[in-house]
Amino acid sequence: MIKITLPDGSVKEIANGSTPMDVAKSISEGLARNVISATFNGITIETSTELTTDGSLILYTWNDKDGKKAFWHSTSHVMAQVLEEKFKGIKLTLGPAIENGFYYDVDFGDNKITDADFKSIEDRILEISREKHEFKMRAVSKAEALEVYRNNEYKTELISNLEDGTITFCDHSNFFDLCRGGHIPNTGIIKAMKIMSVAGAYWRGDEKNKQLTRVYGISFPKQKDLTDYLELLEEAKRRDHRKLGKELELFAFSQKVGQGLPLWLPKGAALRDRLEQFLKKAQKKAGYEQVVTPHIGQKELYVTSGHYAKYGADSFQPITTPAEGEEFLLKPMNCPHHCEIYNIKPWSYKDLPKRYAEFGTVYRYEQSGELHGLTRVRGFTQDDAHIFCTPDQLDSEFKKVIDLVLYVFGSLGFENFTAQVSVRDLDNPDKYIGSVENWEKAEKAIISAAHDKGLNYVIESGEAAFYGPKLDFMVKDALGRSWQLGTIQVDYNLPERFELTYKGADDKLHRPVMIHRAPFGSMERFIAILLEHTAGNFPLWLMPEQAIILSLSEKYENYAKKVLELLENHEIRALIDNRNETIGKKIREAEVQKMPFMLIVGEEEEKNGTVSVRRHGQEGKGNITVTIEEFSKVVNEEIAKTLKTFEV
Ligand SMILES: [Zn+2]
Ligand SMILES: [Zn+2]
Repeated sequence: MIKITLPDGSVKEIANGSTPMDVAKSISEGLARNVISATFNGITIETSTELTTDGSLILYTWNDKDGKKAFWHSTSHVMAQVLEEKFKGIKLTLGPAIENGFYYDVDFGDNKITDADFKSIEDRILEISREKHEFKMRAVSKAEALEVYRNNEYKTELISNLEDGTITFCDHSNFFDLCRGGHIPNTGIIKAMKIMSVAGAYWRGDEKNKQLTRVYGISFPKQKDLTDYLELLEEAKRRDHRKLGKELELFAFSQKVGQGLPLWLPKGAALRDRLEQFLKKAQKKAGYEQVVTPHIGQKELYVTSGHYAKYGADSFQPITTPAEGEEFLLKPMNCPHHCEIYNIKPWSYKDLPKRYAEFGTVYRYEQSGELHGLTRVRGFTQDDAHIFCTPDQLDSEFKKVIDLVLYVFGSLGFENFTAQVSVRDLDNPDKYIGSVENWEKAEKAIISAAHDKGLNYVIESGEAAFYGPKLDFMVKDALGRSWQLGTIQVDYNLPERFELTYKGADDKLHRPVMIHRAPFGSMERFIAILLEHTAGNFPLWLMPEQAIILSLSEKYENYAKKVLELLENHEIRALIDNRNETIGKKIREAEVQKMPFMLIVGEEEEKNGTVSVRRHGQEGKGNITVTIEEFSKVVNEEIAKTLKTFEV
C-alpha cells in the first residue's frame, strides 16, 4: 500500500500501482467522469500513470487551469497528426498549451497552410477525436529516439539535450510525438475545436534560426464553450483600447517619435488630468506630499539602488554628456529619487510616516515585438508614492493604502477584484534580505490589513520579492478577463542601500521601512484597462465631455450658447455641434463619440428654456424634455453616486 495526500490534507491508502483515475473513482463517480489530468509531487502525469510511492496528488478537471493545459496540449497532438496527414514531409517541432489554447510550430517545407485549409483540418481533428484514442506514454532510449527523428533536425536538437533514460513519446491513434507528458485520458472529450490563425515564428524564438509556421488552435469539451469563446473574442475586439483610443481621439503613436511612446491628444490628456486630480485630492487627504523629480538620474544612483546590476544590460543605455563624461540613465523607477528626497535632512520617529507622491514618468526598454497599445509601452507615468515609516507603523499604513485603493476602484466601477498576498518561502530563508522579525511583522501586517478590510484574498508562499512581501490587486473586467492593477510592496532593501535613517525614541538611529504603492499601476495601462472594461463609456465624472448640444439648425445657435453657459455654471462639461448637418447625422456621430447626453435644441426648446435629452445607447427610449436646472440635477446626482468623497 502507498499513502496519497490530497490537497485538502486528507490521506488515502491505496494499492501500490493504482492510478490517479483509481483515486478519483474512490472519491466519487462524478469526479472520475470529470478528472482529466493530475500532478504527483508537483510533476505533471497522466490519469493512467501508476503511482508507486507515497506523495501528494492533485486531480484536475476542465475547470482548473492545469486541466485546460492538458486538454489543449493533447489537442495539439491531434492537430500535429492531421497536419502530417495533410501536408507530406513537414517537420514537427513543439506544440505547447498557452493561456488560451495551444500552438504547434511546424516546418512546412515546400507546403503552405492558408485559412482555406482550416475547416478541413478542424473536421479531421474532430473525426479522430470521436474515435476516443487513448494517450499513452512510452519510454524510449536516446538512440532509438534519435533514429526515429533522424530526418527532423528540430527534434534531433531537442533529443540531444535530453538525458538517456528520461525520454518519452506519447502515442495516440497511429501517431506518436516526443513529449514529456501531461495529457487527457483520451481524444473523446475534445468536442469542439478551431484553428485560430497562423503566424511566423523562429525556431526557439531566435531570429538567427529558421522561420517556422506557428499554427494556433483552441479546443473545448462542449460546442457551446467554443461559441461563447468566439463571441467573447468579438466583443473584446470591439472594446480593444487601441481601436477605442483612436475613435475617441485619446492617444496616438507616431513612428517618428518612436515606438511604444504614446502621444496624448487633448481629450486623452484631459482624461488623464482628471484621473490625476482625483487621486491627488484623495492623497492630500490621506497625508501624502507631492514631489517632482527629473526624468533622468546619474548611473551611480541606480548602481546604489541595485537596479543597474539587475536590469542595466536590458535597459535604455546610459546617456553621456559631451565634455564631462558623465553618465545618466533614463529613469526606470522613481524610488531612488524619492530615497534621496528622504535623505535631504535627518528625521525623528515623531516625523514619520513621510509619504511622497509623484506622477512620475519612467522609461523601460521593451523589445519592439512586445509592445502593445498602452499596456506595453516604453515610456509611462506611474501614480507612484513611497511611504517611509517605522516598523510599528506598517500595520496602519497598509490599511490606509488599502482604503485608498478601494476608493479608487469604487469610483471607477471596478467591483470584481481579488487580492494576492505574496509572502516568503519559509524553506529558503537565505533568499530574503531584512531581519526575520521584520518580515514576520510585515507579513502579519499585510494579512491582517487584507482581512480587516474584507478583501477576497489568497496567500501565496514564495511569491514575495527578495526585498519584501507585497499585496497585489487583480480586477476582473466586464468580459471576465483578469488584469493586475495596483500593488502595495514592502521594501527593506532600498532603505539599507540608501542608508536611510530616523532617530528613534531610544535616541538611536534606525532604518525606516519603505512602502511602494501605485493604485492605478500606470496611467497608460490603467486607462487601457478602463477603456476595455467600460467600452469607452467611462463613469460620468470622468468623461471628457458629459453632454453635447445639438442644434436643429443654425437659427438656434444663440440659444445653444446660452445652454452651454448654464451647464458650465453647474460644472457640467459640454460642447456644441452647430454644423449645418441633419440632426440624424449629428446624433450618429455623437453616439460614436460615446457622448453620455445629447441635448437637442430647436424652436420649442428655445421658447420654453428647455432641452430635449437623449441618452447614449438608448435610441429606442425617446427623448425627455426638461429644463437646464432639471438636467443638471440629474447629471450631478449620477456623479455623486459613483464619485464619493474620500474619507480618511
Ligand atoms: Zn504531449
Ligand atoms: Zn518604488
